[in-house]
Amino acid sequence: VAVGSLVGRLGMRQWGVGPSALTRGPLTACRRWAGASADTVYDVVVSGGGLVGAAMACALGHDIHFHDKKILLLEAGPKKVLEKLSETYSNRVSSISPGSATLLSSFGAWDHICNMRCRAFRRMQVWDSCSEALIMFDKDKLDDMGYIVENDVIMHALTKQLEAVSDRVTVLYRSKAVGYTWPGPFSMADSSPWVHITLGDGSTLQTKLLIGADGHNSGVRQAAGIQNVSWNYDQSAVVATLHLSEPTENNVAWQRFLPSGPIALLPLSDTSSSLVWSTSHDHAAELVSMDEEEFVDSINSAFWSDANHTDFIDSASTMLHYVVALLKPTKVSARQLPPSIARVDAKSRARFPLGLGHAVEYVRPRVALIGDAAHRVHPLAGQGVNMGFGDISSLVHHLSTAAFNGKDLDYGLRQQVSAPFLEIMMKSIL
Ligand SMILES: Cc1cc2nc3c(=O)[nH]c(=O)nc-3n(C[C@H](O)[C@H](O)[C@H](O)COP(=O)(O)OP(=O)(O)OC[C@H]3O[C@@H](n4cnc5c(N)ncnc54)[C@H](O)[C@@H]3O)c2cc1C
Repeated sequence: VAVGSLVGRLGMRQWGVGPSALTRGPLTACRRWAGASADTVYDVVVSGGGLVGAAMACALGHDIHFHDKKILLLEAGPKKVLEKLSETYSNRVSSISPGSATLLSSFGAWDHICNMRCRAFRRMQVWDSCSEALIMFDKDKLDDMGYIVENDVIMHALTKQLEAVSDRVTVLYRSKAVGYTWPGPFSMADSSPWVHITLGDGSTLQTKLLIGADGHNSGVRQAAGIQNVSWNYDQSAVVATLHLSEPTENNVAWQRFLPSGPIALLPLSDTSSSLVWSTSHDHAAELVSMDEEEFVDSINSAFWSDANHTDFIDSASTMLHYVVALLKPTKVSARQLPPSIARVDAKSRARFPLGLGHAVEYVRPRVALIGDAAHRVHPLAGQGVNMGFGDISSLVHHLSTAAFNGKDLDYGLRQQVSAPFLEIMMKSIL
């Protein structure tokens, strides 16, 4: 026991696992010294089957160099397929970048999405409510700048594509991982060198590579003792499905910065748009409980009203504008106003608390973090899931190369260095 605990402590130091990480929750990280059991050994286990984890399992399952690998996707929740597309839009949508669409196309999910429902947008206007400050993103010609897609539609497409590779990818729904244990630093001849996973029903399995895609409260991250820098914004996002006063081309994404936070209107069809309004918790609670007319008035006024303008800011920004125009003449975009809202879909209003998180490392021996498990951002730039899809492109590239060269997948992982946050973000935007 004494030797075991000493080596265990050495191992903890090597991994940077502090005692607090070991006692933080139901998930445990500890060393396993016993010999290998008869557990099923997978090449890759993805823990967490949200948008990012399911896409990761799809990407690996469709990769030619992974044809002889055993992949497992663990998801605590139920299987999500849409038997029939509802006429009403879901209130949870994502702005998907062209880069993410390319990734989803690479394993056939984008075709399902396009055949179901998605809306391209070609311009984006972001402006201030306290001044005339404005930025317009306009793609040349008629290129799409991005797509607004319901999360349920993306999930449905991923589930379909997982079914298409069911010979390589096993998916266990309603299966929560409750413990992860790593091999010791000095593997004994009879000990297993793989990561051990315990499920909620008491069953166990092993994997050569564990991918944590289990969201911002990631148990994999905690069990691996990877530090996470985080804080709450003290804001909630109110979402809702809105009906426009009249049909329009509706191919612009609108976002206005109010003193309390940004409000965004994302196109869904000629007659409807999706709302994401970030504001204080109290105001968010008020917005979801007020009557429909008051809610619709609040949205129209948030986009249209100039009540927050002051003479001082207007004069200062006019002067700044002249100075900038003298130094660097540019084409000035005229401010446009978004379509007015007539009503809100019943029961579509909901609110979500917002927070930021960033794991200080994305990879460790035999473990990688992707999606919100690695980085959680404010939805104002619509980049959370896009960054997760960026993680997948990068990680799959390295793992596929390692598999092609007959190397241990851990070797591929070591090529995926902890990429700086901004680099990943820029890649996903571009
Ligand atoms: C209001 C709002 C609007 C947003 N808009 C956009 C947008 O326009 N564009 C964009 O790119 N991003 C957007 N985002 C961010 C985006 O939604 C998230 O970044 C993305 O959903 C994260 O996906 P994920 O799969 O990493 O994590 P999650 O969605 O949290 O999924 C984690 C999964 O892991 C499972 N799980 C957890 N623990 C376990 C366990 N122990 N065992 C097994 N399974 C487990 C959970 O059941 C869950 O299914 C928005 C976010 C919000 C709140």
